[in-house]
Amino acid sequence: MIKRYTIRTKKEVELIDITREVAGAIAEAKVEQGIASVFTRHTTTAVFINEMESGLLRDYLTLLEKLAPPRAGYAHDRIDSNAHAHLRSMLLGSSVTIPVLEGKPVLGTWQRIIFAELDGPRERSFLVSVVRSREWSR
Ligand code: ZN
Repeated sequence: MIKRYTIRTKKEVELIDITREVAGAIAEAKVEQGIASVFTRHTTTAVFINEMESGLLRDYLTLLEKLAPPRAGYAHDRIDSNAHAHLRSMLLGSSVTIPVLEGKPVLGTWQRIIFAELDGPRERSFLVSVVRSREWSR
């Protein structure tokens, strides 16, 4: 099963907790055991797993600002001035895969699935694919 979610981001750079949506897609797929993939089709967004603690939320943004500051002489900026957003997306990645057990995503206590808007605000979407694992007979 593949489910598409649409979100309207509100800021240029924004981190959104999508763990509930992913858990909902897994429940809807009625998959007891398997994997779930979360994928963003945009080149200036990302998906990653980490903690949603308020200090860390500032730290993620500070790190991205240091690693890929805006308008740092990038070649792509001659087209639409958002090379830094593409580079930040490349660093964070476009998808994550999560194990599914007993119909739920298997995440650590502090792990959340985070959608990163890196060139907003815009309407964005992400896909959740849920795949059942093969049952093995003895
Ligand atoms: Zn661009």
